[in-house]
Amino acid sequence: MTAEIIDGKAVAARIRAGLTERVAELVARGLRPGLAVVLAGDDPASQVYVRNKTNACAEIGFRTFDHRLPATVTEAELLALVDRLNREPDVDGILIQMPLPAGLDGRRVLLAIDPDKDVDGIHPDNLGRLLMGQPRFVACTPLGIMRLLDEAKTPLVGADAVVIGRSNLVGKPVAALLMLADATVTICHSRTCDLAERVGRADIVVAAVGRAEMVKGAWIKSGATVIDVGINRRADGKLIGDVEFVPAALRARAITPVPGGVGPMTIAMLLGNTLIAAARRASLGHPRVV
Ligand code: NDP
Repeated sequence: MTAEIIDGKAVAARIRAGLTERVAELVARGLRPGLAVVLAGDDPASQVYVRNKTNACAEIGFRTFDHRLPATVTEAELLALVDRLNREPDVDGILIQMPLPAGLDGRRVLLAIDPDKDVDGIHPDNLGRLLMGQPRFVACTPLGIMRLLDEAKTPLVGADAVVIGRSNLVGKPVAALLMLADATVTICHSRTCDLAERVGRADIVVAAVGRAEMVKGAWIKSGATVIDVGINRRADGKLIGDVEFVPAALRARAITPVPGGVGPMTIAMLLGNTLIAAARRASLGHPRVV
């Protein structure tokens, strides 16, 4: 293999160590950041994600407020909880684990979150600010992707970047961040023609599709940087990405593995956003988190 393997696990560990120090400084000043995590229903994957997030919070010294609700929770009950958390002084960040149980309108619930506590960066106000070039809270996975591109010393100004996927959580915000960093961005999706050709011209490829190895190694331009966001479980239980890793790594200059690439960065960035929210709410400015 020729590519540098971008070790997201190591970068995330470094960020978390730095954040632990920042948290200790805030605690010494009488401020312990707090994250409220809301999980409705009993989706097993969501339970794992929530556990990982609350454990990570506890590890670096945050307070966590765990709200587990039955799948039968009504939208009115959920909205009332969000309203309470918005007003709760000890809660700096609110995270609503998606997807919500069937019958609940996720968009209405997201809209109810105070944008100043939206550490997931998914409130339309925060996504809109990002598009206007004035980001406040940016979604955690896109932030982590940018950090990994930086880690791999990827030139961004004037680079041709192809983002595959246009979700509000990953594709759109990462495309906006790349554009803010002066890359020329093409957003591809399920109706894009000539995907292979577009990928073949890209200096940076961000694959956020959710289809195992759909980006072929042979498509990758020699010397490109490849960020694989996809998490797909094979029949034998192994996790694999959206990119054919081995052939892509033979052509790329740098590539993220799955697992151990983007995944660990998402939680590190959530911690960073929560710290920023706490410092902002206490009028302590915008702390350095990475
Ligand atoms: P979504 O399902 O919301 O979006 C997938 C996108 O891929 C859509 O825009 C869709 O296009 C596009 N797509 C589907 N099929 C094709 C195709 N054949 N060719 C080109 N584009 C296609 O997923 P998310 O953005 O939420 O997540 C994407 C992946 O990233 C998933 O595997 C998810 O598990 C993973 N993920 C990983 C995280 C991490 O921390 N590592 C965090 C978040 C997500 P269209 O809009 O036309 O339907």
